[in-house]
Amino acid sequence: KTSKTINIAAIADRVRSGDRAALARAITLIESRRADHQVAARELVQLLLPHTGQAMRVGITGSPGVGKSTTIDALGHYLVETGHKVAVLAVDPTSARSGGSILGDKTRMARLSMADAAFIRPSPAAGTLGGVAAKTREAMLLCEAAGFDVVLVETVGIGQSETAVCDMTDFFLALMLPGGGDELQGIKKGLVELADMIAINKADGDYIKRANLTAAEYRGALHILTPRSTEWQVPVLTYSAMTGNGIPELWAKVVEHRGIVQRSGEFDKRRSEQQVRWMWTMLEDRWQSKLRADPAIRTKVRATETAVAAGRIAPSLAADQIASWLV
Ligand code: GDP
Repeated sequence: KTSKTINIAAIADRVRSGDRAALARAITLIESRRADHQVAARELVQLLLPHTGQAMRVGITGSPGVGKSTTIDALGHYLVETGHKVAVLAVDPTSARSGGSILGDKTRMARLSMADAAFIRPSPAAGTLGGVAAKTREAMLLCEAAGFDVVLVETVGIGQSETAVCDMTDFFLALMLPGGGDELQGIKKGLVELADMIAINKADGDYIKRANLTAAEYRGALHILTPRSTEWQVPVLTYSAMTGNGIPELWAKVVEHRGIVQRSGEFDKRRSEQQVRWMWTMLEDRWQSKLRADPAIRTKVRATETAVAAGRIAPSLAADQIASWLV
């Protein structure tokens, strides 16, 4: 029935032809909560899957004000100028709570939003971080099928969303500010363990000296941490998104990393581990929503919970029971 009302093959063809309006509508389908849309979206992703996976997937994080939009605008512009097609996506779990996304406003990337070879999509606003991340991941696949060979996934410097974005990208870039006392913030938060590169923005004018000092501090700190990869030494760069100084060097590092991890086999390993984790995340999400959606099951689960709390049923038996209601 679904495939009659929504012509998935036709949408897939239009997406593959690089039609940006069709791509935007396809992502809207993915983000829809309607059951028939979700079925159609799943079919669409499956149909397009053979045409995905070719892009450089780069995650970009940093606290508000660090210059993420300015950086993506400058980097995206540089990439478009050098012949790439760039898609910009975002994971902003705060958008679900506040109704407004920190990363939502396209006008933040003035130059890039004018470019024909660029596609900018704000964060989906649907539900949990897991839900938001899943939808962004699928949007990324659609962008790849539409021929975008670089996908930049932006997120705010909030722990959980950073992990989610790191988990869907090949390269995770952490942006930092020069000096200011809270340098090495990322190290305390464990962000550095996720980062494939640290880049200190705003290395221009009066900030240059401080940016260099901050970079040296990060380099020193990285020395005492166990590297995530044996093949890749996490670089610390300084650049200016405003002037564009250092942007080509920043991208050169991403390309260098890709070459190294592709040769070592780490690239394929990271991608396939991500695929499997994604499957489990989606399964957990589906279980969770089934538990929440069905009022009859919800009532039974609550009763079971009470019984477990009172020690009347063993947790293992309760888990068996709940699992049997989910099939
Ligand atoms: P976001 O919140 O991380 O997206 O940060 P924005 O890109 O909106 O930038 C925050 C502020 O920093 C804005 O006022 C920018 O103009 C400024 N900014 C961004 N990049 C640079 C830079 O390279 N140098 C300087 N001096 N200012 C910058």
